[in-house]
Amino acid sequence: MIDGFGRKIDYLRISVTDRCNFRCHYCMPENQTFLPHGELLDYTEIALLAERFIAHGIRKIRLTGGEPLVRRDMQILLLALGRHVHAGRLEELTLTTNGSRLEKFAPILAEAGVKRINVSLDSLNPEKFTTITRGGDLAQVLAGIRAAKDAGIHVKINMVAMKGRNQDDLMPMAEFCVSGGHDLTLIETMPLGDGVGGRQDEYITLSEFIAPLTHIGTLTPLEDRSAGPARYWRVEPLHLKLGLITPMSHNFCDDCNRLRLTTDGKIYMCLGSQMHVDFKTALRNQGSTAVDGLLQKALRLKPLRHDFETQMADPAQRLNRHMNATGG
Ligand code: SAM
Ligand code: SF4
Repeated sequence: MIDGFGRKIDYLRISVTDRCNFRCHYCMPENQTFLPHGELLDYTEIALLAERFIAHGIRKIRLTGGEPLVRRDMQILLLALGRHVHAGRLEELTLTTNGSRLEKFAPILAEAGVKRINVSLDSLNPEKFTTITRGGDLAQVLAGIRAAKDAGIHVKINMVAMKGRNQDDLMPMAEFCVSGGHDLTLIETMPLGDGVGGRQDEYITLSEFIAPLTHIGTLTPLEDRSAGPARYWRVEPLHLKLGLITPMSHNFCDDCNRLRLTTDGKIYMCLGSQMHVDFKTALRNQGSTAVDGLLQKALRLKPLRHDFETQMADPAQRLNRHMNATGG
């Protein structure tokens, strides 16, 4: 699949639910409302769409949300998608999770052929963690990370950089990652959704956020690009692989290879745009034959780049869509 700007699209992110058991303060407000269950794609519909997308060239699928592991009977979807991995039709099935239900799901993920996952973790201080997530239990997440490791799944930690809130958590997190054999990726806060705290107050560029690391060691760029938004660095003498996702300070759209399927069956071609194509309605009204034509339309509509800089500076231009709706 090639989009209108000549970019090869082979990566699909699926938001399996917009619901979550956390309320991370940069992601959604405390009183967030969620989609009615009837609006959600059911597992059969998600599996059918995934199958068509794989037939057209998707090679990697990431499940996200909301919190993917809070959707009821998630093992059904995991094992259904895992069949494509085991048959060699899909190179990678992976997941981004808050880790709270990972202890239970780690063996199921392994059975579905999941080899690596991202776990979001912004602080190793239990009280601070509970404050940032508005109720999360750090011990549960750490137990989940251990269970994933025991199941042979590589864990990358995702940490959102928040000025004045978790700057002093960077070094403990780096040490935790080194001792546990995890990679660490840092993310700049993006201006998505209304009623969410932080934003300009807590926005900090990653070059400023990583200052404690640059003081104690050296960062060497790695070739590893994986066509995603992260740029990777080796931090010595820590032996840490560090990813930096800088949607705000450095645009990463040139080699974007992804599409995003929302919980309610819309394909968004860009995290920073409202443009989408409604696959659920087509699927329910016309059956799976409608999918192939719509996919070509989605590819043509994929924009060249996002414009988070303008949206951060001008609240009137921000998208009224929270991160949990499209997945991170
Ligand atoms: N619940 C799962 C989790 O937290 O990993 C998956 C969904 S979450 C929306 C995916 C990622 O988006 C997480 O790593 C989270 O930290 C990040 N995220 C959420 N809101 C964000 C924002 N406004 N700016 C930057 N990253 C954000
Ligand atoms: Fe939930 Fe993930 Fe959003 Fe936190 S970042 S509220 S865990 S969806």
